[in-house]
Amino acid sequence: MNLECYLKAGRIASKVREAARRKYHVGSTLFDICESVEAQIRGMGAQPAFPVNASLNEIAAHYTAEPGDQTTVKEGDVLKIDIGVHVDGYIADTAVTVCYDPKYDSLVKAAESALAEAVRTARANAKASDIGKVIETVIGRMGYRPIQNLSGHSLQQYVIHAGKSIPNIWTVGSSFALQPNEAYAIEPFATIKDGMGVVHEGKVRNIYGITSRKPSKEKDADELLEMIWNRYRTLPFALRWLTDAYDEGRLRRLVDALVRKKNIHVYPILVEGRGKTVVQAEHTLIPTDGGANVITL
Ligand code: MN
Ligand code: MN
Repeated sequence: MNLECYLKAGRIASKVREAARRKYHVGSTLFDICESVEAQIRGMGAQPAFPVNASLNEIAAHYTAEPGDQTTVKEGDVLKIDIGVHVDGYIADTAVTVCYDPKYDSLVKAAESALAEAVRTARANAKASDIGKVIETVIGRMGYRPIQNLSGHSLQQYVIHAGKSIPNIWTVGSSFALQPNEAYAIEPFATIKDGMGVVHEGKVRNIYGITSRKPSKEKDADELLEMIWNRYRTLPFALRWLTDAYDEGRLRRLVDALVRKKNIHVYPILVEGRGKTVVQAEHTLIPTDGGANVITL
């Protein structure tokens, strides 16, 4: 646990998120949005902890731009921009939902209010299940539905999902108490009442991460695996981060081979069960005795 690194990562993540919130994204490609946010992170002396997620409408999470992705934000789209920043592996994880159709304002507000209330509940020894209850209550009171099978998470150096989950609903049974020397991301997702309140995996898969460095015995693939390890360790990466060193066709063939050999796993996009619009808000915090140090505030 290195508080200085966390604070620096948090400050940068927060600045970049607020710049993304203020910007008018209609007409921009997801490629330009992702690349521009990542360039800002690097420009401030940190690194992206994962490819910027730019997930539209019924896609709740885990979409990042493909190389040359021409998908363009349209009027009426609801765009979740989820940003990870790391300093020496210490990660700040934060997200904002942008949309320009006022009909979604109160849905966006529901996720933001649930996050604000959850953050007020967070402190050393607070139970994760109580945070879930607060999130579910606030979203429900505003007439919406939390996404039940998405949750916040503990963070560790170079590990984004470090094993503990902070639910977005009230859960019976096993829970844990927040620890003062551990970082946690809290991230309410909400959809409308007609939604299922559950996400499932979609077909698109464009975020990857190393699971094993065991040589695949294919020389070219192992060279790529070594490059990915040297650049990103176990953190997630996108193909567009490697097109400086490989042409896209060859890169895809080698990555597919490494996926087949189980050296690399893929994170599929997560889609609302009834195809309804999803919104998200997220902060990273470190619990203290009296409250929490919200590093992405
Ligand atoms: Mn996130
Ligand atoms: Mn997160």
